[in-house]
Amino acid sequence: MNDRKAIEEWELKTLAPYALKACESQGRRFAEDEHAYRTCFQRDRDRIIHCAAFRRLEYKTQVFLNWSGDHFRTRLTHTIEVAQAARTIARSLGLNEDLTEAISLAHDLGHTPFGHAGEHAMRELMKDHGGYEHNGQSLRIVDEIERHYLPRFSGLNPTHELRYGLMKHRTDYDKPLFKDLEERESPSLEAQVANSADEISYNAHDTDDGLYSGLLKWDAARESELFVQAEQYARANVPEGEEDLLRYQLVRRLKDLQVTDLLQYSAARIAELKITTVQDVLEHQSKDPIIDFSPEFKKKVKGLKLMLYHKLYMHRNVRRGMEKSTRFMKEMFERYVSEQYLMPGGFHKRIADGESVYRVACDFISGMTDRYALEQYKKLFDPDTW
Ligand code: MG
Repeated sequence: MNDRKAIEEWELKTLAPYALKACESQGRRFAEDEHAYRTCFQRDRDRIIHCAAFRRLEYKTQVFLNWSGDHFRTRLTHTIEVAQAARTIARSLGLNEDLTEAISLAHDLGHTPFGHAGEHAMRELMKDHGGYEHNGQSLRIVDEIERHYLPRFSGLNPTHELRYGLMKHRTDYDKPLFKDLEERESPSLEAQVANSADEISYNAHDTDDGLYSGLLKWDAARESELFVQAEQYARANVPEGEEDLLRYQLVRRLKDLQVTDLLQYSAARIAELKITTVQDVLEHQSKDPIIDFSPEFKKKVKGLKLMLYHKLYMHRNVRRGMEKSTRFMKEMFERYVSEQYLMPGGFHKRIADGESVYRVACDFISGMTDRYALEQYKKLFDPDTW
């Protein structure tokens, strides 16, 4: 049987020297005994899968509002796709697959309902009250908000390496809560892989969902060089007239092209920068990550993103849903801030204990699924819903 010790030894022998090893973890904020047959990073992953915020991802929008159709990505399926791509990349580069998977599964836990429109609305609402940013909120969830281990500690008590990985896009959230994390260090390669896998996944699946919905037209999508490249491959391999198959093969190729370029360039960059230890990674000073697309390919990825932005994300049908949901969120936020007893008991208790009403309302609303938010909105404002 491979117990924890055996897995830790296997990591030491097999993983790249610049990979984070479970046995070298800086540990958890609250000391716990190690598990018999799972490493600390495997436990991080399992705690995330078992938390309520993870289950709620199922009913949070990725791009298409959650009830638009059964085949569109939700934030949960997006997260699973990110973890899958991230594991492939991590394994190829000799990185710690368990940690990469855990960071990937946790990366969107703090996302608001209603996709990017929801995030944008929350950022606006919180701009004078300590800020909101979904990676920062993911960290708040694993550190504070999930309550499975009381009274020993609040949060999931993840390892330093997982918490640090969630800071990868750190901007302007409530920094004082995380003052034990150093800002100056560069993210681990495992965190950088999760970050790239996020981008690779939404580029591919948003193209897929856009075409499937009919909102993104094939002709419009051909503005992107990368799309054309993937389409050429698909057309050469799919019988004439098989539209669904064509889309499937195109999206598959789109993902493969991105992963392949990222893997090849990142491996070359690790060698060129003479990255041989974890410390080399953390001390890497450039604003360009080590895990990255080649410069030429990056231009193509940018072209794909611009195409998606103009032809899909800004499509009036997508915008209309998003604009409407943004309004719901603002109205609810104002109600909860001015009348805290409209929130469930645990939330106003936090205010009584001295927390800012804005932060508490932000935690409550950003934790909602799309459908729960709509239900609450109706209960607050619709005269026929009680
Ligand atoms: Mg994401």
